[in-house]
Amino acid sequence: MFESLSDRLNSALSGLRGKGKLTEADINATAREIRLALLEADVSLTVVRAFINRIKERAVGAEVSQALNPAQQVIKIVNEELVQILGGETRRLSLAKNPPTVIMLAGLQGAGKTTLAGKLSKHLVKQGHTPMLVACDLQRPGAVQQLQIVGERAGVTTFAPDPGTSIDSLEHEMGTSHGDPVEVARAGIEEAKRTQHDIVIVDTAGRLGIDETLMTQARNIREAINPDEVLFVIDSMIGQDAVDTAEAFRDGVDFTGVVLTKLDGDARGGAALSIREVTGKPIMFASTGEKLDDFDVFHPERMASRILGMGDVLSLIEQAEAVMDQEKAEVAAQKLGSGELTLEDFLDQMLMIRRMGPIGNILKMLPGGKQMSQMADMVDEKQLDRIQAIIRGMTPAERDNPKILNASRRKRIANGSGVTVSEVNKLVERFFEARKMMGQMAGQFGM
Ligand code: GDP
Repeated sequence: MFESLSDRLNSALSGLRGKGKLTEADINATAREIRLALLEADVSLTVVRAFINRIKERAVGAEVSQALNPAQQVIKIVNEELVQILGGETRRLSLAKNPPTVIMLAGLQGAGKTTLAGKLSKHLVKQGHTPMLVACDLQRPGAVQQLQIVGERAGVTTFAPDPGTSIDSLEHEMGTSHGDPVEVARAGIEEAKRTQHDIVIVDTAGRLGIDETLMTQARNIREAINPDEVLFVIDSMIGQDAVDTAEAFRDGVDFTGVVLTKLDGDARGGAALSIREVTGKPIMFASTGEKLDDFDVFHPERMASRILGMGDVLSLIEQAEAVMDQEKAEVAAQKLGSGELTLEDFLDQMLMIRRMGPIGNILKMLPGGKQMSQMADMVDEKQLDRIQAIIRGMTPAERDNPKILNASRRKRIANGSGVTVSEVNKLVERFFEARKMMGQMAGQFGM
């Protein structure tokens, strides 16, 4: 899912990489690309407009960050705004204080409600709940049996009017209504109370299109059972129609959350990106296949990084922000320029970078493909450990002024840090060379 959107967004943002400073023209060009990418992914026009405006506004007025370069800042803003249109925080099921919690499923026929009932049950069972299914889709031929089968697979009880046999075959074939779904829903909840199930999932009938009968029936059930959650189930493959259908259901029945199904088949992702913003209701679950396990809680943050296809870069940015001690970094840069860098500064810098995780992993997170990956494999963490140990083995005076490191001090440090004297020598030599080179470079570039 989202492949083409990911690709487009990535190429829009990759133009920014490596730029030290962004002009308004850069931001406009990027915004234009992002806009096209979203429209192509079938995201609703109003959502696209609002999104682009927010990105531009924030990117142009972005505060100078201490840890990020301008391009990284734009990526961060795009990511944050994506998280926002996907709903911000993960919205969990709200459970009733007095069980059973009642969850009603609503949506068009074929949206995936019955399948979802099974998936949700299995998910809840894993969390220690004891859900019961109630079959109120008395319209679609075979719907009751389908729910029973799904329930069996998920290992939960299904409450049905009169399991399997009661539906008259003629009515069944004609797809006409049999029994009163409102009564079944009520009876189901009573049964759940009696048998101490803590959650009831009520499956309702859908139609092929939105019509008043469907809405009225769903509304009647809703009013009769007063559910804690009404989940609107929508097939995300129907693209722009998903948004219209969602609005019709919100106005006709109202719901508390959305479940997107068939995300496995949706390469574009427009529904996922529009529904929250248009309906104001959170996406709570996502279905990604026909099997019971192809299902998950919907996490806006994870989905956004998946869409951006830069999850790793984003976490790198976050880590950098978390560990960056700007003051120390500036002092070190100054000292570097004036050739005054001490081993203490060097150790500080090294520790700061290493706090972000193994250096090899950090390199692998950077976009740079094979080359970066090869470089990452060459990094020897053990060697870094040894350098750290050597510097730690020095006294503050020695770190401050490595020139005082005579033979006996070097021997003491080697013994104390478990390395050979020649390793200590090598480190000190390299440090002097590097400091000299940095000083010369800084002089040349007027740092
Ligand atoms: P209902 O009419 O709303 O109860 O819909 P069903 O649960 O009967 O689902 C309709 C069809 O969609 C069935 O063939 C399901 O196997 C299929 N389906 C449901 N959810 C998903 C999904 O997430 N991905 C895919 N690929 N198929 C799904």
